[in-house]
Amino acid sequence: MTIQLLSDQLASQIAAGEVVERPSSVVKELVENALDAGATIINIDVRDGGRTSIQISDNGCGIPAADLEIAFLRHATSKLQTVDDLNAIYTLGFRGEALAAIAAVSKITVVSRATAESAGIRLQLDGGIRQSRDTVGAPQGTVISVENIFYNVPARLKFLKSDATERKLIDEFVVRYALAYPQVRFRLIHNGRITFQTSGSGHILDVLITIYGPEIARQLLTIGQDEPIADDPPAITITGFIGPPSVHWANRSHIVLFVNGRLVKDNQLTYAIIQAYHTLLPSGRYPLALLFIEMPADQVDVNVHPTKTEVRFRGDKPPFGLVQRMVRQTLVADAPTRQMSAWAMGNQPEATGWGGEMGQPVFARSEPPEQSSLGLAWPEPPAATAPETETDASSGGLPIMRVVGQVGAAYIITEGPEGLFLIDQQAAHERILYDLYMSAWQRQQMPTHTLASGTAVSLAPHQAELVQHHSATFAKLGFQLEPFGPHTFMVRSVPIWAAEHDPAQLIVQTAHALERPSADDLPRHLIRTLSSQMAIRQGQALTHTQMTSLIQQLEQCRDPFTNPQGSPTFIYLSVAQLAREFGRL
Ligand code: ADP
Ligand code: MG
Repeated sequence: MTIQLLSDQLASQIAAGEVVERPSSVVKELVENALDAGATIINIDVRDGGRTSIQISDNGCGIPAADLEIAFLRHATSKLQTVDDLNAIYTLGFRGEALAAIAAVSKITVVSRATAESAGIRLQLDGGIRQSRDTVGAPQGTVISVENIFYNVPARLKFLKSDATERKLIDEFVVRYALAYPQVRFRLIHNGRITFQTSGSGHILDVLITIYGPEIARQLLTIGQDEPIADDPPAITITGFIGPPSVHWANRSHIVLFVNGRLVKDNQLTYAIIQAYHTLLPSGRYPLALLFIEMPADQVDVNVHPTKTEVRFRGDKPPFGLVQRMVRQTLVADAPTRQMSAWAMGNQPEATGWGGEMGQPVFARSEPPEQSSLGLAWPEPPAATAPETETDASSGGLPIMRVVGQVGAAYIITEGPEGLFLIDQQAAHERILYDLYMSAWQRQQMPTHTLASGTAVSLAPHQAELVQHHSATFAKLGFQLEPFGPHTFMVRSVPIWAAEHDPAQLIVQTAHALERPSADDLPRHLIRTLSSQMAIRQGQALTHTQMTSLIQQLEQCRDPFTNPQGSPTFIYLSVAQLAREFGRL
């Protein structure tokens, strides 16, 4: 076989294959052209998943009558002039390929009227060959109808999926562009029915509500960055929305990325986002994220592939780390207790934290100090183990907080560095007591309170038997018991946190716990029971000093986020969340 130049038509069809893979590629290219033309209204009218026809109309700047045929030639573009322009692309299109490619594989009718012109031109092309050209009355803008896609490329036609699948791909594109261009009014019609439309209000949240419904949209967290990251002007800004960990999907299709207004696919960026949710999502589930990355145009190479959906980051600071950090920070700052706890646990190296040494100097005491009525003023946070510097939520523990007050004699309000904490006083105290108690148990140094005259406790016969049987354990738990007549014990001492409690109640509850099966080992199980017995209750008014003491002790707990039963100890409301609730964003 001799070497021959491909015919123009064949060359066009081969080139077209790179740009126009399926109907959704036509939609993408034509919508991008409309956006480049400055349109504020874009209608997309599709028949049979795009197989029969795709019509896109816009109110953009239009194509000048003199250029209309040229626009359909290969490598014809108004968006690029010199090779230098390639270094910084500000438009979605620039390769001058799309119209030629689409024309090569379909029958096209275009009607366009440019801003300065008094009439429009209608042009018809079959397989890229001009069929007719007329002057027509038309509003400013462009309407392009693409019919019988691949009618002349049977091989391609065969590869199209079902109408429903092709339609889904089109929907995906339109929805994504609607998110990135909320100021543009989009309308999508399938087989004569409107299936999606946006208001063009300019508010992304409006578009998100249209797509996900108010319930999910309401929960989305804003990623915003007003302050320059490094230099002035900012090198990279990242804005957008991410879902809370409670919103997740089986695939990655809800992770949508725009770089300088261009929809991109980027595995590394997608991975950075998924990593930011690490430990927060069930495995095999993916978050919702809509991120807009803005960076100097010369830092991104968009000329990687004819479809222009891949980018390469030039320069020394690719945005992966920044994206991951910002997503993570937003999650942590806005996450309610449980998620935050999961996050912190997933991040804190096991061996660190203040838990191990907690309270050591204090256990030498055998008498509760004054003000001990709730066990709240005790122990003082030992100086050696108190955190030296302020920590914030992202380092795993609780930040330093200031007590604001108490609500409903049940919740303590505190102010942290960037928001408000509502602390469940009972759950918090359960956590504190449990940690102190466990730590004392492990060191076998139980601080006890000696009852001056002893207290006699009578039990039901079977309970008395149980207590007798486990008397050694009771002793280790700080309860010194002596037999004192039938089914009765004399209590000589109690754990120090129980100084003000009714010993009989505690012993009865502990006996109950002995009867209940537990997944935990016995000490843990009993200490959990006792901690919740000894903790302050809802309905207990606290003084400012008591609240401060409680908060300080909670700050020192290793896992301050939940009580020993796993319920949250607090709810966090960030300043950003408050602003959102008040409609200040
Ligand atoms: P590119 O977008 O890369 O420039 P296209 O083949 O998509 O290449 O479009 C060729 C040219 O046709 C564009 O540069 C633009 O000048 C013009 N054009 C295409 N679509 C429109 C439109 N909807 N409104 C105005 N001009 C358009
Ligand atoms: Mg284009």
